[in-house]
Amino acid sequence: MSYDEFYVKSVIRTLPDWPEPGVMFRDITPIFKEPKALRMVADAFIQRYMDADVSHIACIDARGFLIASIMAYQMQKPLVLVRKKGKLPGETIHEEYKLEYGTSAVEMQKDAVAAGDRVLVFDDLIATGGTILAACTLIKKLGAEVVECAALIDLPDLNGSMRIQDAGFPVYTMLAYE
Ligand code: AMP
Repeated sequence: MSYDEFYVKSVIRTLPDWPEPGVMFRDITPIFKEPKALRMVADAFIQRYMDADVSHIACIDARGFLIASIMAYQMQKPLVLVRKKGKLPGETIHEEYKLEYGTSAVEMQKDAVAAGDRVLVFDDLIATGGTILAACTLIKKLGAEVVECAALIDLPDLNGSMRIQDAGFPVYTMLAYE
């Protein structure tokens, strides 16, 4: 199923200056209130990856969980979580990355993926690319391969998707906001 870019964009809400001045926050929550939009977006990602050589889907805290779990259900693939530090029980590894001010960190359980696994990484949006790059680093540290990094939205002005590709990980995004 193909998607209607203009329709999906019309459902996404933009909140200027949130959570801080200067940020144009792209709010995808209205997609989940609009079953037609949710089905269109989820089906388009499922179609792209249904026949791909992917063994696991890794989704990023927290909005990445929402669409990726629909994909995992339909594709019958294991779903693994990349969470903000301190949220996952058991043995974990974490990776820090730089924010504009300060640092953040993402974490995975050590048994989430392993050598031989081929992982699709999913998040809602790529801004600077730091979050997805940290997730890719964790997946590689656990011995698995990153097949592709996918997101609903790209902010190309921030160069994140370029950074991710330069690091050797293919990127696919559905919508761009300049
Ligand atoms: P980054 O690590 O800079 O690529 O930031 C990506 C993460 O931050 C994603 O998990 C997004 O949910 C969130 N994010 C960053 N910028 C925005 C934005 N302008 N609108 C919505 N979410 C954002």
